[in-house]
Amino acid sequence: CGIVGILASYEVSPVILEALRRLEYRGYDSAGIATVEHGTLDTRRAVGKLVNLSDRLVREPLRGQSGIGHTRWATHGAPAEVNAHPHRAGPVAVVHNGIIENHAAIATELATRGYVPDSATDTEIVALLVQSHMDAGAAPEDAVAATLARLDGAFALAFLFEGESDLMIAARRGSPLAVAHDGAQAFVGSDAIALGPLTDRIVYLEEGDLAVLTRAGMTIRDAEGAPVARPAVAVAAGA
Ligand code: GLU
Repeated sequence: CGIVGILASYEVSPVILEALRRLEYRGYDSAGIATVEHGTLDTRRAVGKLVNLSDRLVREPLRGQSGIGHTRWATHGAPAEVNAHPHRAGPVAVVHNGIIENHAAIATELATRGYVPDSATDTEIVALLVQSHMDAGAAPEDAVAATLARLDGAFALAFLFEGESDLMIAARRGSPLAVAHDGAQAFVGSDAIALGPLTDRIVYLEEGDLAVLTRAGMTIRDAEGAPVARPAVAVAAGA
């Protein structure tokens, strides 16, 4: 339902939580955050209001200067911690808005290769597909691109990777997603309201776009894999 991602030079968990609060108006049943700290990917998730997630983060802090967060409105799988995003599979964590229509067919195929989901979501299939490509030697960007080629349905996705403290990948088809870069920090958000206080200008991804973000910059490729420039638009601080 709501997506936020930040690569920064400060601790991102509290900032992601604040951004998720700005997305509460969309409605949600659970929430979660993943960060990478010294290369270690970790997640915290909680059912119900964001206060449950923030209480959890007080008890079990999630350090790191890169992170993704999500508020979930369940479509596949009951509201439960195991179904909350981010979904982790081996070296990858993903947050997802939308629906993966062919998740059951992909799950059947993945199971024959030993990749079995923990959750009842359509989303976890995305994480498992990326993991399967990375296990076969693919770099994160190539693993995501190969995964996207298999998916039917509507999605906005943001990914973080174990061992990659300076990498976030975002993709959209059928669900809105914006990215931003201010010269030192990179952001992903499902709408301008999420990112308003964090950055002046955002770039709306177009259908089929894949964005690779680091602190040094961002590149966007279209559905055919060709590098593209998308216009940046001003976002009001109070958006
Ligand atoms: N289909 C996904 C799920 O049920 C994502 C739902 C959403 O957009 O929040 O977990």
